[in-house]
Amino acid sequence: MYKISVNKEIFNDLLLKKLKVLEKSTSSYWKRELLEPKIINDKIKYTIKQIDKIKITNGLGEDKPQMIIECKKVDYSFKKDLFEFHFGKILEQKNSDMSEDYKDTLIQVLLQERVQLQDSMNRDHLTGVYNRRKMENDLSAFVNQNNKDLLTAVFIDADRFKGINDNFGHETGDKALIYLAKRIQKYADILNGEAYRYGGEEFLILCFLPKDELLKKLEQLKEDIKSQKIYHSKKDISLTVSMGVAFYKDCKTKDELIKKADDCVYIAKDRGRDTIVVS
Ligand code: GH3
Ligand code: MG
Ligand code: MG
Repeated sequence: MYKISVNKEIFNDLLLKKLKVLEKSTSSYWKRELLEPKIINDKIKYTIKQIDKIKITNGLGEDKPQMIIECKKVDYSFKKDLFEFHFGKILEQKNSDMSEDYKDTLIQVLLQERVQLQDSMNRDHLTGVYNRRKMENDLSAFVNQNNKDLLTAVFIDADRFKGINDNFGHETGDKALIYLAKRIQKYADILNGEAYRYGGEEFLILCFLPKDELLKKLEQLKEDIKSQKIYHSKKDISLTVSMGVAFYKDCKTKDELIKKADDCVYIAKDRGRDTIVVS
């Protein structure tokens, strides 16, 4: 296994995952080990040997701090004449003389990473709003809250969205979804609720607000979405949405709540789109 010796500060930064890429100036040893020449069309090209793990030590000798760390990628920059080692998980470690402070920091870093991972599992990659999985978890919790009588589901489906993809391309379609998600998230906050991407061009808001006020705000959201243009070199695009609103106090189950709101969207589409239907 390849071994790199580093100073104490770098060793601890690697251990705390503050440092994820280690730059190493090239010596003839590393060049010989990591650059693999190949002759392609009479020219010498180099490929970089990839390593799956590497030993990092602080000092020489078996009793010195050391760790084995996953190596995700090795890069070589001709310009800087440096190797870059991109590290992943720490696989083994021993003799590290971290102080209690460092251990505390390490625990903090790990806990933070866990929260970030959990959050990314709950979010839609494209738009950044929560995904359906998170919606289902939240809904289960919301129906047990003592304000559940105010719980409202607002189903929002973009109108004739397929046409945006067909006329302006998928990339513009994606841009439109990001725009839509931003407006919906903004209003979810105003409505004392949360926004989710249910799937495709469909979003859902779960919120807690008295009906009259809620409907007023939803009308504003509908107009707000329509009034702003999405830039495209051929033609600026405007987007409308159809919404369905259902109240938990009229439902027996949480599934019924979502179904009712979805059914209202179908009615809104039948009525010509760009409209809100309340169950
Ligand atoms: P309607 O008014 O009846 O809702 O018409 P629509 O075209 O919006 O509905 P339809 O269900 O026929 O089409 C939805 C389209 O949304 C088709 C699909 O390609 C597009 N879509 C779904 N997810 C994405 C996405 O992540 N990115 C892009 N660009 N398009 C998407
Ligand atoms: Mg749809
Ligand atoms: Mg649609």
